Amino acid sequence: MLPLALGASVAAAAAAGTSDLELQRELYRELHKMPPAAVFPSSETLACYDRLGKVARFTPVPIRVEPAQCARFDMVQLDRIVMPDQTFVAVAPPPQLQCTMAEALAEWLRTDVGPVAATLGGPLATVTELASYECRGRNNILGAKLSEHGKGNAIDIGAIKLKNGATFTLTDPQVSKPFREQMRTLACARFTTVLGPGSDGYHEEHIHLDLAERSHGYRICQWNIIDHETIAAAVPLPRPRPMNLTSVQTRSRDRGTAIKNGAGP
Ligand SMILES: [Zn+2]
Repeated sequence: MLPLALGASVAAAAAAGTSDLELQRELYRELHKMPPAAVFPSSETLACYDRLGKVARFTPVPIRVEPAQCARFDMVQLDRIVMPDQTFVAVAPPPQLQCTMAEALAEWLRTDVGPVAATLGGPLATVTELASYECRGRNNILGAKLSEHGKGNAIDIGAIKLKNGATFTLTDPQVSKPFREQMRTLACARFTTVLGPGSDGYHEEHIHLDLAERSHGYRICQWNIIDHETIAAAVPLPRPRPMNLTSVQTRSRDRGTAIKNGAGP
């Protein structure tokens, strides 16, 4: 049965004695004005909402149909994580993610990051989010393959903040090396992609986490933990003081001879 308004409009056209073709056109015009059919969450998404509700506070995000390559039906805004002691941890600003990615992030913060952060001197308060859902190509390159961010399946993390106010940037060489190593181990065990400093030049100042699915369960874990010693070793030694001219000329002659004899560097 046609909706009331639509039926009335088409019926009026029919009563006016319009031809079949014009009647058909009127019908199409009316159909076009109608809102799209409602799409209800799938049973998998509803099951995910159920699981996520036990470990976090979240808001389902209205269905996105545009742009088509980034259409999602299962997005949530992750407002707060419920820690095992029933306190809350915020991801700031609240990220928009696929429900399954939000669930993985919540579990990572509850089970992994919370206890590791406690070794730094206090309970975890906030995790800084630098990017979540964004319809774009990989590494913001136009025309590149769709990023996992475009599927709501990725998040970029900057720092963690404790309740005592102390902040630890995950890519900062001055932050405890064992802490960052532990964070890398736990992230790489939970997410299928972990990219940080030393990976590809695009992740020197944040850590990218996603749940990309690859054939044969292939995973990527690329995050170099750089510390003070590594940086110090990479700094070139100061230039030697200038030598007297006679000495330089002598060395230059010697070097020329050596090269000629095939003993160069
Ligand atoms: Zn990213």
